[in-house]
Amino acid sequence: MTVNNSTFDYIIVGAGSAGCVLANRLSDSGKYSVLLLEAGPRDRYPWIHVPIGYAKTMFNANYNWCLYTEPDPGMRSRQIYWPRGKVLGGSSSVNGLIYIRGQANDYDRWHHLGNDGWGWADVLPYFIKMETNQDGANPLRGGDGPLRVSSIRDRDPLAQAFVEAGSPALRELISEEYMPGNDVNSDEELLEFARETGVTIFHPVGTCKMGSDESSVVDHRLRVHGMKGLRVVDALIMPCITSGNTNAPVIMIAEKASDMILEDAARA
Ligand SMILES: Cc1cc2nc3c(=O)[nH]c(=O)nc-3n(C[C@H](O)[C@H](O)[C@H](O)COP(=O)(O)OP(=O)(O)OC[C@H]3O[C@@H](n4cnc5c(N)ncnc54)[C@H](O)[C@@H]3O)c2cc1C
Repeated sequence: MTVNNSTFDYIIVGAGSAGCVLANRLSDSGKYSVLLLEAGPRDRYPWIHVPIGYAKTMFNANYNWCLYTEPDPGMRSRQIYWPRGKVLGGSSSVNGLIYIRGQANDYDRWHHLGNDGWGWADVLPYFIKMETNQDGANPLRGGDGPLRVSSIRDRDPLAQAFVEAGSPALRELISEEYMPGNDVNSDEELLEFARETGVTIFHPVGTCKMGSDESSVVDHRLRVHGMKGLRVVDALIMPCITSGNTNAPVIMIAEKASDMILEDAARA
């Protein structure tokens, strides 16, 4: 492909969670030239590098697209805030740093939907490859990947009680219900509360889903149906959302896509 009279083996649009991983892996051998295009600036803003900096980038149009949805009839026609990173690192530069792989069943479901090679056993090696876990490597955790992952150090006693003892013990710690409150009880009242207050929590996926049915955009090797030389590699290819935050799954997707792209290049 050619841009400004220069030719590249690969052009990656968007230096977000997925784009940066792809650029790293595809250029690693030195064999292929890679052009990584990013609409936003470099990630020099200091708050990007501080965990609590999330609050400083959330509405900062220098580093955030600051989008809103169209008015949604199912949500009382509200327009819901839709932040996305517009900076080197993409949304991973403005996110909450929570690291969750999701559950094995999430990926087995992708596989059962007809996406060969995306079951839990297939994707686990990529989760391991991408991380350096502070607790060290083991059969489920990585020890020498580019992404450092640590467990929560300061455990909140309330959360701890919830996890360890369950609801009966938790009841003793609750003085009153904060939200939705005592006035909201029936299914209809709860649904109405969700319509009035619901937000995305910033994990949109699936608008270019992987699959072979009519509504899918890419195949199981992330090639756009009916087009040569074009792939989608990011959160949008998920056939259904994982159980948790999406950054770790997106990085896994890009790690796996890098291998597929390099395999295809070696075969060509
Ligand atoms: C506020 C917020 C908090 C979040 N918190 C967490 C969390 O704590 N834990 C978690 O796991 N996940 C979290 N997420 C979700 C996670 O960060 C995303 O799922 C993930 O970063 C998506 O990666 P991506 O590569 O698909 O897209 P992105 O990382 O968004 O990358 C897309 C990139 O493409 C660029 N781009 C777009 N259009 C163009 C163009 N035309 N030309 C050039 N470049 C372009 C954008 O500027 C951007 O840099 C959060 C997301 C947000 C927005």
